[in-house]
Amino acid sequence: MRTALVVLAASVVLLLGVIVGRTILHQPEAIGNVETVTIDLDEDAISRHLSEAIQIKTVSYQRQDDFQAREFEAFIDWVKKTYPEVNDAMTLTRLGGYTLLYRWEGSDPDLKPILVTGHYDVVPVIPGSEKQWQYPPFGGEIVDGVIWGRGALDDKSAVVAQLEAATYLTQSGFAPKRTVYFSFGHDEELGGPNGAAKVAEYLADQDVQLAWSLDEGSFLFDGMLPGVEELIATINVAEKGSLTLNIVAKSAGGHSSMPPRRTAVGILAEAITALEAKPVPGGLSGLSEQMFDTASRYMSFGNRMLFANRWLFDGLIENRLSDVAFSNAMLRTTTAPTMLSGSVKVNVLPIEAVATVNFRLHPRDSVERVLDHVKSIVENADVEVRLPRGSGVAASPVSSWESTGYRAVERAVRETYGEVVITPGLMIGGTDSRHYGKVADDAYRFNPMTVSQNDLTGFHGTNEKISVANLAQGTRTYVRIVSLGSME
Ligand SMILES: [Zn+2]
Repeated sequence: MRTALVVLAASVVLLLGVIVGRTILHQPEAIGNVETVTIDLDEDAISRHLSEAIQIKTVSYQRQDDFQAREFEAFIDWVKKTYPEVNDAMTLTRLGGYTLLYRWEGSDPDLKPILVTGHYDVVPVIPGSEKQWQYPPFGGEIVDGVIWGRGALDDKSAVVAQLEAATYLTQSGFAPKRTVYFSFGHDEELGGPNGAAKVAEYLADQDVQLAWSLDEGSFLFDGMLPGVEELIATINVAEKGSLTLNIVAKSAGGHSSMPPRRTAVGILAEAITALEAKPVPGGLSGLSEQMFDTASRYMSFGNRMLFANRWLFDGLIENRLSDVAFSNAMLRTTTAPTMLSGSVKVNVLPIEAVATVNFRLHPRDSVERVLDHVKSIVENADVEVRLPRGSGVAASPVSSWESTGYRAVERAVRETYGEVVITPGLMIGGTDSRHYGKVADDAYRFNPMTVSQNDLTGFHGTNEKISVANLAQGTRTYVRIVSLGSME
């Protein structure tokens, strides 16, 4: 008996020792010496330029008839006038009407070109919400070091920062080894059919295969991960796909005064509940594993302990991550019932009750796999799963986080921002990279500006803004991304 107790106690001590030991070793990987680079910029001029860009109302409206060609022409004129060095050093091709593709010839034609890109169209301001803006949405006002207006974050700041970076490089006599393309899309907010898609088509026609592309996507996040004080730069290497399904419950119908025991609506409700109870399986593997492994090294002791001992805590970690909408979306294909329809009259039983469910596909899941998953849960004699025509876009391929392109972006961020956490990430929404990825070995989605929780309401919302300092840091990082990326 005593021996048994001693053995038990020794095992517990050993187990604790292993857990704590592994936790202590779960430290950020050594970064090596990256010296910060000083780049002198005229911050006043840069902010004035973004202010001017915001004042041109290049709005992408849902209705094609509302398109204001004049504003888009004005923006293109403004680019040419404001950035004459870019126009002198590069050749410009207009595509799809209003998208600009600049080509800066490299000295080594054997190297694959690179593409740095952003979009200058913006979403409309919801009519009536103007009053909720602290400064007018198209005023471009600069107050106390902050530039206000639609596009300040999404994505005119990136377009301006890229043009400023290109200007800086041409003025300093820089000559790229790889050919560098810059493209500025005019319809990203509509899915990019005439902008990015046409650029990709054009490059393919010219037999251009890019080494990599860098488009909008993630940012350097400030204070978004509890317990992590450093800025976290997630360089997104993939974006999720999308699948919309109609779940249809059927019943005989008839007068509502004499309903059957189970109505179509009741059957549909059961199906949706079952679907929510059994999410598409996910987990910490591949890209998600890489992300959380990197970030967790900066977390508090408790969290580090969990991630350092996944052999013991994997179940617990996945439960916790699945409970939070944001991290759940990183781990798996998500399930979101969004629309419902039933009868057209209060006293008529529906013959069909329909729920529309939107799935966002994780790179590990194909459209067929999710369809099979849904069918296995809900399909029976009374319930049918319908795939609307044209629905179902797989996730993008996952780009490498060991390529020279990724390394260039990573190094540029460190040179500008100093010590930050950098990890590959997964894009939850869609970007123009869906198109550019077709002509690039690797497609990255990242803007080198800082964003905090506070800023998030600005995206497609109210009070969109960026600080002058933030815009300038973004510009410096683009300078380094292009210099490093075009020379390696
Ligand atoms: Zn955008």
